[in-house]
Amino acid sequence: MARDTGPQCKQCRREGQKLFLKGERCLTDKCGVERRSYPPGEHGRGRLKQSEYRVQLREKQKARRYYGVLEKQFRGYYAKASRQPGITGENLLALLECRLDNVLVRLGFAASRRQGRQLIRHGHWTVNGRRVNIPSYQVRPGDVIAIKATTPATQVVRDATELTGQIPAWLQADHESLTAKVLRKPERREVAAPVQEQLIVELYSK
Ligand code: SF4
Repeated sequence: MARDTGPQCKQCRREGQKLFLKGERCLTDKCGVERRSYPPGEHGRGRLKQSEYRVQLREKQKARRYYGVLEKQFRGYYAKASRQPGITGENLLALLECRLDNVLVRLGFAASRRQGRQLIRHGHWTVNGRRVNIPSYQVRPGDVIAIKATTPATQVVRDATELTGQIPAWLQADHESLTAKVLRKPERREVAAPVQEQLIVELYSK
């Protein structure tokens, strides 16, 4: 299964903001953006030519990197979002937000999407009592997410819960039993992604 294995701090520096891709490290002064707040590469500190296309492209890249999705899969999400009723940009964000690896982060069960992805790939999580090892699995209202009984990853997950801020209202989590429930689909105002989805729609509509 293809995945992005590139250096994550470089991705934040390219987008010019913290995307919180590394869990606990992102909260320390070792953060790449804090230490070098300019784009990576030889010409990182050079003058950038601004254009409408560039702004739209960067927004799409930022969303892709934030959710840890490769280009082809991201296009697939866009195609699916544009077929759904409602506002395409909001549909797109809802699809990305309902990925199981992202949901683990929102619930506080993983410190980063990359860690969530690994925990899922290694079979540590169940949805409605069945083991799910697909990070892009789309959760639905009513789904019950639970850590697999007797898994050795319990301590890693408990450590991650200590970094958790507020859990969004569309999810319900129990950090004692490490179980959670999806109450409903997320609304746009509940999606805490630093993304202007309209720019992505404009890019793909060209
Ligand atoms: Fe981004 Fe985290 Fe690296 Fe900072 S430490 S640059 S937020 S991945």
